[in-house]
Amino acid sequence: MPDIIKLLPDSVANQIAAGEVVQRPASVVKELLENAIDAGATSIKLIIKDAGRTLIQVIDNGKGMSVTDARLCFERHATSKITDAKDLFAIRTMGFRGEALASIAAVAQVELKSKREEDELGTCIDIEGSVLKDQSACQMPTGTSFTVKNLFFNIPARRNFLKTDHIETSHILEEIHHVALAFPEIAFSFYINDKESIQLPVSSTLKQRIVNLFGKGINDKLIPIEQDLELVKIRGFIGKPEFAKKKREEQYFFVNNRFIKHPYLHFTIMDAYKELITEKTYPAYFIYFDINPASIDINIHPTKTEITFQEEPMIRAVLRSTIKHAIGKSNLSPSLDFERDQSFDIPLSYKDKPVVSPEIKYNPEFNPFKNDPRLPKKDTSNWEKLYPSTADFKAVEQPAPAMSDSSDTIEPPENSHCYSLLNTYIARETSAGLLMVHHEHALTKIFFERYKQQGESSPKPCQQLMFPETLEFSSSQTVLLQNMLENFKSVGFDMDHFGGTTFILRGIPVGTEQSDNRHLIEGVLHDFNQFSDESFDKNNKLALGLAKSIARKKEIPSSSEAMYRIIQELFNCSLPEITPEGKRTFRIYTADDFNKQFD
Ligand code: ADP
Ligand code: MG
Repeated sequence: MPDIIKLLPDSVANQIAAGEVVQRPASVVKELLENAIDAGATSIKLIIKDAGRTLIQVIDNGKGMSVTDARLCFERHATSKITDAKDLFAIRTMGFRGEALASIAAVAQVELKSKREEDELGTCIDIEGSVLKDQSACQMPTGTSFTVKNLFFNIPARRNFLKTDHIETSHILEEIHHVALAFPEIAFSFYINDKESIQLPVSSTLKQRIVNLFGKGINDKLIPIEQDLELVKIRGFIGKPEFAKKKREEQYFFVNNRFIKHPYLHFTIMDAYKELITEKTYPAYFIYFDINPASIDINIHPTKTEITFQEEPMIRAVLRSTIKHAIGKSNLSPSLDFERDQSFDIPLSYKDKPVVSPEIKYNPEFNPFKNDPRLPKKDTSNWEKLYPSTADFKAVEQPAPAMSDSSDTIEPPENSHCYSLLNTYIARETSAGLLMVHHEHALTKIFFERYKQQGESSPKPCQQLMFPETLEFSSSQTVLLQNMLENFKSVGFDMDHFGGTTFILRGIPVGTEQSDNRHLIEGVLHDFNQFSDESFDKNNKLALGLAKSIARKKEIPSSSEAMYRIIQELFNCSLPEITPEGKRTFRIYTADDFNKQFD
C-alpha cells in the first residue's frame, strides 16, 4: 500500500487557517485597521460597501512596505512584529501572529498598494485566493492601501453564512468603535455602505473622542477614573450610576490599547456599582489598563479579545476600589475631570512596595478594604487636599495667610458651624455647596475602619470592665458566638464561653462604651448574619457589625466642634463616600441644586 499522508498546499492550509481569523467582514476590518495602527499611521480611512461583502478598503499614511515586504506580508507567519518567542511577552503592537493578511488573501481578492517614505515608487500587488496575479510599480503617496474585494468569493458556503447587511454592518461598527476609542490621537474617516460617514478628527483627549463617537449628550454622564500603580495604570471614564441603561451598551475595556472581553473584570465593575444602580441596568464604561505585557497573556484566543492576568485578584481589587472612589468623588464635585485636575489621584503608590508575599497574591479572600501591605497607606493627614471641593472652605473661612499654609494637621476652622438636621444629618456650608453628612452612615464608616484596624493590630485595644459580666444568649446565638469567639477577640472583646449558653465578658473594644453589652453583642451577631458580601472575611464582617451597632446608638453631638470632628474623621477614611455596604455617607448640594427648586 502506498504512503497516504501528504502536505496540504499553502493555499488550502491558508484557507483553513483563515476560518479562525476571518469569520466575517468585521474581522477583516479589525485586522486591516490594526495593521495601519501598527504601521504608525496618523490618519486612516475605511471604505465599506455592501456591509463589507463587495469591498473593504483601508488607506493609511503609515510607514509603508518595501517591494519585498509587500510580497512577503501575505505569507503565513510573516510578521515584522516579533522575531523570537521571548518577544511574545513584550507585545505592544496590535498584531503579532503574521496570519491576518495570509488568511484574508486566501479568501478574497486583494489589492495591496504600499510605498515607504524613502522609495520613489510604490508596489502594487494583486492576489486572489492566495495566488499572486500581478505585481507592478506604482505612483502613490507614502503609506498603504489594502483593498479586499468579494470576501469568501471562493468559499460560497461561508459567503452564504453571512448575516443580514444590518447585522454585518453593526459588527463592523463595533470594530470601528474599539479601534477609534483605543487611539484618539489617530484621525479616522469611515465611509459605510455609501450611506454613513463618520469623521473623527485627531482628539487631544479621550473624552473628546468619546463625545465625537457618542454625541455631546454623553459629556455630562461620565466620571473620570485614574489610578497609577506599578502593577497597573488605569484611566478612562465610567458612567454616572443614575445614567445606567437597560442595555449593555457603551461598555468598553481596553488593555494596552487592545479591546478585551473579560467577564470577571466586567463583573468586578458591576459589583462596584452594586447598590448604586437598579437591577438589570448597566453603567457605561470606557476603562483603559496600561500593564506590563509580561504580566498578561493575550495569546489564548485567536482573535485576541480575551486575556489572562497574572495578578488577577489584585487587579480586580484595585479596579473595584478605583471605581468606587471615582463615584464617590464625583458626588463631591460633579464637574471634576482629571484631564483638568490631577490633584485627586489616590496616593496608592506602588513604588515602595516591599517584597511580594505569595500568600497575598493568591488569597481568594482578598478585598480592597483589607490593608494590603503592598499598598502603602493613603496619606490621610489632610483630607482637605484629597477633596479640594469640600476642602476649600478652609481657605474661604480662614484669613488669607492660611491659604498657603501647608501644615499637616487640620485645625477646626474658626466659625466652623455645623448643624444637626432632622436628627439624622450633620450639615455644614462649604464653598462647594451644602455638605450633608449622614450621621449614622458616617459613624458606621468611621467605626468600621477603626475596628478593622484593631482586628489587624496586636495587642487588641480592649478596655477592661470594672466588673466582669456574665451574659446569657439563646442557643442559636451561642453556637454562632462560639464559632466566632476568636473574631470577637480580634476586634477587642475579652470574652470566653462559660458553659451552656453563658459567656463571661471581661473587656470590650475601646470606643464601644455603652450600657448594655449583651445588646451590643446581639446587634453585632445580627448584622453579621445579614451581611452576605462574599468579598468580606469574617473579621471584616464582624468589624462592620460592630460599627453598625454602635453607629445606630449614637446621637448627633450637640457641639459644632464635635460634629466637625466627625466630618474630619470621615474624610480620613479611605473611600469616605460610601459605607462598606455601599451606602452613601454624604452629599454636597450646590447652589444650583437649590435654585432649581425655586424656579
Ligand atoms: P501581523 O500584524 O500579525 O504582523 P499581518 O498578516 O497582519 O500580521 O501583517 C503582516 C506584516 O505585514 C506586518 O507584520 C507588517 O510588517 C506588514 N503590514 C501589514 N499591514 C501593513 C500596513 N498597513 N502598513 C505597513 N506594513 C504592513
Ligand atoms: Mg496584523
